[in-house]
Amino acid sequence: MMAEAMSRREFVAAIAAAGGLPAANALCAGAVPPGNAVPTVDIGGDDGREIFQQEIDAVTPQAWWSYDKCGMSLDEALGSRMRLELPALQRYENAFDKVLAEIDAADASAHPAVWLVYNMGIVVKTGKSLFTVDLHHRRAETLAPKLDFALITHNHGDHFTEDFYQAMNGREKKTVVSNFKDNYGAHFGRKHVGGYTRAVKTFEFGDVKVRTAYTDHNDYLIDYTTAFEITVGDFAIYHSGDCSNAGKLRPECPNPDVWIFHPRCGMKPVDGARAVNPKLAVVAHLNELGHAKGNARWTWADGERARQKLEDAGYKAVVPLWGDRIC
Ligand SMILES: [Zn+2]
Repeated sequence: MMAEAMSRREFVAAIAAAGGLPAANALCAGAVPPGNAVPTVDIGGDDGREIFQQEIDAVTPQAWWSYDKCGMSLDEALGSRMRLELPALQRYENAFDKVLAEIDAADASAHPAVWLVYNMGIVVKTGKSLFTVDLHHRRAETLAPKLDFALITHNHGDHFTEDFYQAMNGREKKTVVSNFKDNYGAHFGRKHVGGYTRAVKTFEFGDVKVRTAYTDHNDYLIDYTTAFEITVGDFAIYHSGDCSNAGKLRPECPNPDVWIFHPRCGMKPVDGARAVNPKLAVVAHLNELGHAKGNARWTWADGERARQKLEDAGYKAVVPLWGDRIC
């Protein structure tokens, strides 16, 4: 059911009366399924992307964190008011619902199905497995019961959520491969295979092989980001996280099917593409709302510029929006 709309003026007045944006814990109450209250805009075309960008630009990092950090305990009334005032938040919720619905329907028998949820977070369905890389979403923990395992490239809050990790590691007792979480609770079959590693290592999960390697996030966070080379039969996905150093991207596969990368972390996209040699480059880490506009928050248009450079150099590239299926 559609929540009663609050005008912008009322919303701003309510926030002012409350002494500014509500603190995260003031927003958090009972669990809430998000209402679908925003009029549908086709965000596939150029106009749609522009409208979507404007909606995103209206979300400050403070508003974002006050909303997102509540996780499943977001207060229902305030959450729906925020989604009406800031439609990008509704799209963020819709993206998660879209991926959830498509997971069940997707046929992944010929090759894995891959979706971008938000930022660099992907969901991958294979013939036998379901897993995520860098999944960050307010409701990510609700996906944990369906997952076989999860991968996290590095210890920055835009690449995972603590609630998600706790759900996987705690009640689900599933493997989370990362370079910063102990993952004591993880079991795979009967064997304890906690996913913590800082080595170059290969994990096997059913029909999926995951090879870890390390790359730099910047000049001082050396070997801080894990690059994951994920193979399912002869299909390879390479996720390089927040990589600043193309020199450390060395997949074993000579021509991975899909490469997910950050275009503005210090590595030129074409340098990365020369190292990885992907069949399809996926420009990700755009519109990460924890940063302010113009300050480590890159737009869809920034992504398009990276895509163009890759295409000029002879690579195929795409700029998925939240919830888009990549392959
Ligand atoms: Zn990041």
